[in-house]
Amino acid sequence: MSQNCLETLYPSWGQQFVMDEVLFEVNTGHQHLVIFKNDQWGNVMALDGVIQTTEKDEFIYHEMMTHVPMFAHGHAKKVLIIGGGDGGILREVLKHQNVESVTQVEIDQQVIDMCVKYLPNHSAGAYDNPKTHIVIADGVDFVNNCTEQFDVIISDATDPMGPGEVLFTSRFYQGIKSCLKEDGVFVAQNGVCFLQTDEVVTTFKRLLPLFKEASFYSGAVPTYVGGMMTFAWATDNLALKNVDITTLDSRFAQANIKTRFYTPMLHKASFALPQYILDVLN
Ligand code: SAM
Repeated sequence: MSQNCLETLYPSWGQQFVMDEVLFEVNTGHQHLVIFKNDQWGNVMALDGVIQTTEKDEFIYHEMMTHVPMFAHGHAKKVLIIGGGDGGILREVLKHQNVESVTQVEIDQQVIDMCVKYLPNHSAGAYDNPKTHIVIADGVDFVNNCTEQFDVIISDATDPMGPGEVLFTSRFYQGIKSCLKEDGVFVAQNGVCFLQTDEVVTTFKRLLPLFKEASFYSGAVPTYVGGMMTFAWATDNLALKNVDITTLDSRFAQANIKTRFYTPMLHKASFALPQYILDVLN
């Protein structure tokens, strides 16, 4: 008799996965971690009862979180990833040949270890790449003590609860500001805006005092239920969000990266936000 995984994000509504086979389950000391098989979505990982990633739709999120800032920037050499233990962002970043080093700061070594074992195509060997530097630490401490600076910073955190909560605070964003190069860009997972609108507003209010530009872009990830997901965007380089389609096309062609979701046209379109979001941001 298979068990079910009922997502705990919303008290009176949510999605439910049949766990056809539980592959691994543990309280890691930071969070509850379960990885299970599901007929529809392949292997699925949940942390503290919240779906983090599935084999079937992970490419959408990882491509949009990575290639929008990377192709907007155009010549990122040093990249910082906060969180991202499943390795999907790391895999996509390393597809950019300009990249010389990627530092990933993940609080939970067991997430990395179990995802390499049970979700191997997420990292696809990225953890063994000589350009990869893994730091097991709390991301908020790392960015507030970091002396290095990065071209692109990607915060691939859980939701603002449990260990992930600190990655949505002003103290975290101040740390990001201090380790982001002047012409660099910061992006972050920022929830499903129709249901987590308050997270969009809170992030906007916390980023605005620190950066010349704080905004959002979006992408629809099927297993992040409730409509499109918003990604926070913060930079002092106002040109980055407005890179024209001809430049994006040329960078995309030159990079020779095979994607399944990202296209330059989608990149441009993803910054068009629905009126209800524009209203709350104004
Ligand atoms: N794509 C998912 C989403 O949008 O919800 C997030 C994926 S990834 C699994 C989230 C990662 O953030 C996890 O590996 C978790 O261990 C890590 N994490 C949570 N809090 C953290 C913190 N304070 N510092 C560093 N990593 C953290």
